[in-house]
Amino acid sequence: MTELSTDQPHPWQQLAEHVWTLQTDGLRMNVGLVVGTERALVIDTGTGPLQAAWILDAVRQMTDRPITAVNTHAHYDHVFGNAYLAAHGVEDFWAAERCAAVVIEHGDKWRAAVAALEPAMASNDGDHTNLHPANKLVTDAPVDLDLGGVSVTLFHLGRGHTDHDLLVGAGNVLFTGDLVEEGADPAFDDSFPSDWIRTLGKVAALDDLYDVFVPGHGSPVSVDFVTTQLNKMRSAVRVTKIAMDEASVDMTKAIPILPYGPEQSRVLLTRLRTLAHWKWLERQSS
Ligand SMILES: [Zn+2]
Repeated sequence: MTELSTDQPHPWQQLAEHVWTLQTDGLRMNVGLVVGTERALVIDTGTGPLQAAWILDAVRQMTDRPITAVNTHAHYDHVFGNAYLAAHGVEDFWAAERCAAVVIEHGDKWRAAVAALEPAMASNDGDHTNLHPANKLVTDAPVDLDLGGVSVTLFHLGRGHTDHDLLVGAGNVLFTGDLVEEGADPAFDDSFPSDWIRTLGKVAALDDLYDVFVPGHGSPVSVDFVTTQLNKMRSAVRVTKIAMDEASVDMTKAIPILPYGPEQSRVLLTRLRTLAHWKWLERQSS
């Protein structure tokens, strides 16, 4: 199958037969593309209609097949382009079970985050700025999608960056969403750090199936990078929990010794405190 137009430059990086990735400006978010003889799969849809239009344009330089979309998770840079794609013929949007609910619950609050990139999306005032949550949900069992001669597997391995991170395997390439982050610290805001470590262990154990791991942001990496991220996170969570147990100690003193920048260290600290508080509340009520 030759779909690549050779007379036009395109921004895609080919990772395997039928599999490409495209990095957006600014957030360096990775859009995935898998092309079969019947359909094309687009992984993650951008920050709003402007970026989605750019993505769709790039996809159309590669293939004219009907498109199925996937959201790796509900964060704005991965789903806000859904409405634009839906208005341009995309019917099926896949995601992990909780993703659609999270988009509905938090989507409006996240609009402010794209004010610089997508003013219309931020103010919800313009075409294709509505929230468009996924309508095809992956529950406990993995889902195989047949794109025509090429199949992809959608699956959830447990909580991590969010409670609904979806992985997409295509050939020897695994799209990990923000479970893996290259070029920046992992984002802990909505995360479950202890589960994240376990989930990364499961991701790393898939190295007999996959050679290339595509992070949500940054450059594609090997399994060694995933293992390094796991080990770093494990020691960060350990250090933070020890600081939390020593109640007399000023917790912010843990920040300089964490393996992350001050901002994400602070987010990790806050998140672990919040989760500990939730656990405490749960114990009180049971
Ligand atoms: Zn994210």
